[in-house]
Amino acid sequence: MSHTSQPEFASWRLDTSDLDIAALPVLCEVDVVVVGAGAAGVAAATVAAEQGRSVLLVEKYGFAGGAAVAGMSGTICGLYRSAPEPVAPEQLVYGFTERFRKELRSRGGLTAPQLYGKTFTDAHDPLVWRETADALLEAAGVRVLFHAGVLAPVLDGETLRGVVIESNAGRSVVRARRVIDASGDAAVVARTGAPTVFGDEGVIQNPTMFFRLGNVDMAAYESFYGPDTICAPEVSAAIEEARDKGADLPRSKIWMFRTPRPGELLVNATRLTGRDGRMLNVIDPEDFTEAEVYGRQQVRAYADFLARNVPGCADSFVVDTGVEVGIRQTRSILGVETLRNDDVVECRKRPDGVVRSAWPIELHNGDRPKLQWLYDDYYEVPYHALVPRAGEHVIAAGRCLSAEHEALASARVTAQCFEYGHAAAVATLISLEEEARYRDIRGSDVRERMRAAGSAL
Ligand SMILES: Cc1cc2nc3c(=O)[nH]c(=O)nc-3n(C[C@H](O)[C@H](O)[C@H](O)COP(=O)(O)OP(=O)(O)OC[C@H]3O[C@@H](n4cnc5c(N)ncnc54)[C@H](O)[C@@H]3O)c2cc1C
Repeated sequence: MSHTSQPEFASWRLDTSDLDIAALPVLCEVDVVVVGAGAAGVAAATVAAEQGRSVLLVEKYGFAGGAAVAGMSGTICGLYRSAPEPVAPEQLVYGFTERFRKELRSRGGLTAPQLYGKTFTDAHDPLVWRETADALLEAAGVRVLFHAGVLAPVLDGETLRGVVIESNAGRSVVRARRVIDASGDAAVVARTGAPTVFGDEGVIQNPTMFFRLGNVDMAAYESFYGPDTICAPEVSAAIEEARDKGADLPRSKIWMFRTPRPGELLVNATRLTGRDGRMLNVIDPEDFTEAEVYGRQQVRAYADFLARNVPGCADSFVVDTGVEVGIRQTRSILGVETLRNDDVVECRKRPDGVVRSAWPIELHNGDRPKLQWLYDDYYEVPYHALVPRAGEHVIAAGRCLSAEHEALASARVTAQCFEYGHAAAVATLISLEEEARYRDIRGSDVRERMRAAGSAL
């Protein structure tokens, strides 16, 4: 059979400065527009609206959750302390994270803490996550627009005055006094022309496609696999043996979590590169597509391996994969300050720290993910790591904060992302009250207000 020849793709253009924004209709005017409804965006929009501000939350999917739900990362990591011999979970992060955690739990959408190497983590149900976010946003009075993407910033010199959004209905302008970029990819900041960073000089962590496995005999599974969600060396050895016999199982250290549903596991196993082994640049839809297609194939290969080799999984089936392949890292802002690798390794605390973390440096490159633990301690992320170096009236929240490569590999997990959103909302409230630029706000003031709202800082 002959294949038709396919056109070569040319490259992409991010700059939208030739867009005739003045000619577009204005959809609304708000105090705050939040771009992206992941953990950070939900937190930011809820907190800002609860304080009486008019808030519009714009999200390209039809639900909230971002990487945690669409990417099905599936667990709230970053809540607990790490220890060489962890005995019981000791919670370190509260504030908005705790509000969301409690609400998920009360709706039956969260497991008890599960052992993860030297710490613990809680697994959530992605549907209950969406419902929890809907309820919080509605109760706070946030106006939510799903199925709408941000196309461009509305700029007045270096100052943001809103964003241009695009949907199947067309394009329109949202005028806003402040913009919170919670897109995970610094989608707004990058479009202002402000400097951004892409991984470690262009090298990013590899994506993973998660999947859920149903009809697992949990008693048989647990007596074999043990309590640790990180697989034992014998499982890695079995994966390597199957790989030697030709199975497509590029990652040998895998993680499996119980979910809130009976007989179900959440599996974090795949490691996605191009078929030729190259790193995939998932900002580019061509590489993103390759990750999706290859991801589904790897999911089948791992599910097949589990059915054949892991007790309790013989009659299991793949329930679903994430809506999209899980993207750990793309573009980050270049901030007024940057969280340094040393800040993380040395567990630095600071008077302007607005989020704390004890999560290990978790690097996903190569055959086995690397974990560098922070025992019996934590570090704090400075407020100005959320403030872009260039541009006014815009702040970042979530995994696109300014951080060095290894530091980001620790600072990006969900418990912290909720609190970055909380911090960005508090800074936005101060900025509006005092007509202050984000860069001129003191991190210690943001910290104090967050403490008053329940954050452990
Ligand atoms: C493979 C993988 C494994 C992970 N494992 C874990 C784990 O086990 N535990 C854990 O706690 N964390 C884990 N993480 C990290 C965690 O899931 C994310 O870092 C966190 O959820 C990011 O939250 P966020 O709000 O910053 O961004 P995101 O969750 O990425 O949310 C950004 C939102 O913005 C939307 N958006 C983007 N651009 C636009 C636009 N132009 N217009 C409108 N909307 C837009 C997106 O659709 C998305 O909903 C993992 C991540 C990945 C990818």
